[in-house]
Amino acid sequence: MYKISVDKELFKNIQFKKTKILEKATSLYWKRELLEPRIENDKIKYTIRQLDKLKITNGLGDDKPQLIIECEKVDYSFKKDLFEFYLGKILEQKNTDIQEDYKDSLIKQLLREKAALEDDMNKDHLTQVYNRRKMEADLDLFINQNNSDLLCTVFIDADRFKGINDNFGHDAGDRVLIYLAKKLQKYAKILNGEVYRYGGEEFVILCFIKKSELISKLNDLRAEIKAQRIYHKIRDISVTVSMGISFFSECKSKDEMLIKADKGVYKAKSNGRDRVEFG
Ligand code: GH3
Ligand code: MG
Ligand code: MG
Repeated sequence: MYKISVDKELFKNIQFKKTKILEKATSLYWKRELLEPRIENDKIKYTIRQLDKLKITNGLGDDKPQLIIECEKVDYSFKKDLFEFYLGKILEQKNTDIQEDYKDSLIKQLLREKAALEDDMNKDHLTQVYNRRKMEADLDLFINQNNSDLLCTVFIDADRFKGINDNFGHDAGDRVLIYLAKKLQKYAKILNGEVYRYGGEEFVILCFIKKSELISKLNDLRAEIKAQRIYHKIRDISVTVSMGISFFSECKSKDEMLIKADKGVYKAKSNGRDRVEFG
């Protein structure tokens, strides 16, 4: 089998099918090997010897990378004085650390796709915050962390949300939910936590923060939501939220923590809404 040594760049291009015709400057050796001249009617004619396959190598030594590749056609260009090898399928490859690079890049791509898929499974499509499924998973992790004594749950329920849908339409209601989710995300960062859409017009923040700080920051959040208007062509929409809070350090289980925060919401509702209450 004929062997052609190429530089690393070209080897890579052949391996990844970027180079389909390999050009080889002729030497006497290659001419002798591949050209078969004959005399026909006093003229020199030649045929080009055809090859089934070629061995392409890069570098020196026994462990140099090599490809055995199908050769579909051999041509000879008089003008350029070079042979052209039309390359086909790769039949075999050895010591191709470039192949490892390629494998790595495929694995990286696979991992990226897996992460995107996981992200999609964990996110609420409307608001782009995490969903309840992710909340359950995170909660299991958080209660076992060594800072779990700082873990707090904040349940957030939009006030009289049905009225927003009724007065402005469902689409406007959706926009308000997106707005609320963004605002909660901003505050979740401040609270050292994460936001989840629990369902409907209800959200949860799981965060790690001291009690005293939590309450004052949540009151800032509440006031900010109350003060802001969401544009609507009929008239701008205002919204308020009721919040219930609980602390893992005061509960026997994660379920108890969630129930307590939910109770806090009920308390806030019955005390007039637009407020923060302990469960
Ligand atoms: P309260 O102050 O007592 O919480 O009253 P509320 O109207 O907010 O509570 P209620 O549970 O009666 O109504 C919640 C409404 O939220 C009803 C439902 O149609 C609406 N809702 C739930 N999910 C969505 C959503 O994805 N988009 C929109 N636009 N509305 C939603
Ligand atoms: Mg509700
Ligand atoms: Mg509500």
